[in-house]
Amino acid sequence: MVAQLELKEVSKIYRVGDNVITALDRVSLSIAKGDFISVVGHSGSGKTTLVSIVGGILRPSSGQILFEGEDICALGDVDLSGYRNERIGFMFQFASLLPMLTARENVMLAALFAQERSREEQQRADHLLDLVGIGERVEAYPGELSGGQQRRVAIARALMNNPGLILADEPTGDLDEETEAEIMKLLGRINREQEVTMILITHNAALARTADRMLRMKNGRLVGVTERE
Ligand code: ADP
Ligand code: MG
Repeated sequence: MVAQLELKEVSKIYRVGDNVITALDRVSLSIAKGDFISVVGHSGSGKTTLVSIVGGILRPSSGQILFEGEDICALGDVDLSGYRNERIGFMFQFASLLPMLTARENVMLAALFAQERSREEQQRADHLLDLVGIGERVEAYPGELSGGQQRRVAIARALMNNPGLILADEPTGDLDEETEAEIMKLLGRINREQEVTMILITHNAALARTADRMLRMKNGRLVGVTERE
C-alpha cells in the first residue's frame, strides 16, 4: 500500500501547571488514499487531538507526520496554514456556518482562505451544493435550513478546495438518528465518488463499523484497528 498519510510515533503532551497530560501517546498509523476511516473512543481519549495534528491545526510534541510524502512538521507557519486550507477539508461538531452568509457564500468562504480565487468559485460552490443535494437552496441562510441541510453545506464547504483528505470531528453529534444516518450515507458517497480520504470521529458505534477501518483510541493511545468484514 502506498500511504497518503503516515503517522510515526506521534505524541502530544500538554503541561498545565504541574500536570503533564499526554493527549496523544506514540500513535503510528498509515492510511491509503480513498480510505474511509472512523475513530472511536471515550471522551478525552485523544480523538480531537489526533485529527487536529493531522490537519495541521496543532503541532505534535514529537513524532513525524507524512502527507503525500511530505513531512508536515517541517513546514513553517505559512506553509502549514497553506496545507490546512488547501489540502484538508474540515467538518466540526456543529455545522459552524456563518449566519449572515448564504449557503453559497458559506461554501465560497473556503476559497477565501486558499490562494486560488477565481470567477469560477460561485459555480463551484453551486455545483458542490448540488452534489450534496441542496442545489435549490444556494440562496438560503443557515437559519432557514434544517440541521441536516446545514451539514450538507458544511460538507460542500469541506470539498470546496478539492482536498485530498476530509477530517470530520463528530459532525453529526446533535442530529436525530435518521438525519445522522442520511449525512453518513452522503459522506460515504462523497468518499467513493470524489475519491477523497475521510477520517471521521463518531460516537455512533454502528456507523463507525461501516467504515473501511475503525480506529479505537484510549488514553491517547491507538489501542485497536478493526477492518470491515
Ligand atoms: P477527545 O476528542 O477524544 O475527547 P481530546 O483530544 O480533546 O479528546 O483530549 C485528549 C486529552 O488532552 C484530554 O485529557 C484533554 O483534557 C487534554 N487536552 C486537550 N486539549 C488540551 C489543551 N489545550 N490543554 C491541556 N489539555 C488538553
Ligand atoms: Mg473530541
